[in-house]
Amino acid sequence: MPVPHASDSATSLAGRPVLAVFAHPDDESLACGGTLARLSDLGARVILLCATRGERGGATGPIKDEGLGVVRVGELTEAAALLGIRDIILMDHPDGELRWEDVPLLHAEIVAAVRRYAPACVITFGADGLYWHVDHIGVHERTTTALRSLGQAAPPLYYVTMPRGMMRPIWEAAIARGWAAPPKGFWSLVPDAFGLNAEPPTVVVDVAPWVARKVAAIRCHRTQMGTGHPFDQLSPAEAERWLGIEHFHRAPNDPSPLQPLEDLGAASVRPTRDQALPTTEDAVPLARASGVVATPGTRD
Ligand SMILES: [Zn+2]
Repeated sequence: MPVPHASDSATSLAGRPVLAVFAHPDDESLACGGTLARLSDLGARVILLCATRGERGGATGPIKDEGLGVVRVGELTEAAALLGIRDIILMDHPDGELRWEDVPLLHAEIVAAVRRYAPACVITFGADGLYWHVDHIGVHERTTTALRSLGQAAPPLYYVTMPRGMMRPIWEAAIARGWAAPPKGFWSLVPDAFGLNAEPPTVVVDVAPWVARKVAAIRCHRTQMGTGHPFDQLSPAEAERWLGIEHFHRAPNDPSPLQPLEDLGAASVRPTRDQALPTTEDAVPLARASGVVATPGTRD
């Protein structure tokens, strides 16, 4: 795939580290794989801190399985290569217990990573953990406290969000093609769990030209996809429509005056809290029509 041109306003990220902090192998691809790939293509050094090996993420339930952890690290390595993630800082905290176990240690590890790499920005989960996953919320908490502890020296902090309703069209398209939802839902979730009561985005990033890589990266996580997963059934046009915009909420009281994601050609949307949360169907045409999304120089 040809590398899209960086916009002038985004070239400041060339050569700069960007740190993403997530809980499990696959979070990086699902949450913001398009943005990570776009940042990599701009020349940013994308670094992923993954707090666990995902050893309790098996299809049979939350049973610890060290072999699964090994397989998932391999899947993460494949996905990272597709997304252009340069470095993976792999931690071995206990999957499923991030909110309670090793709290000071994970905090210190994130502080150390920020001090070591001096990233242009840090990306992690929002307070809702995308769908109230306790490990995701734990990573949100540790990353937030870690950056707060750095005071005015903290880099810009962005929380990944999903708009309410984002997963429903994907789910419904799969059902229309004959897919039968497992009794517990996919990833044991009902589709409307994604983005339920999420913070509204303050920045949206157009990743349409990177969606194919994002979906390919998601598919690398084979132990999490199972067979016939709804993501496997999306046409390229559907994937672009439903996954082609990624949403971020700038951390409140973030002291940095810098705006690296907003500057991605870009723009910030700052809806007030009493506005209705945008659904993907609403947000994408609205954002594109008003020119407020980060638009690459070319879509080739
Ligand atoms: Zn996860």
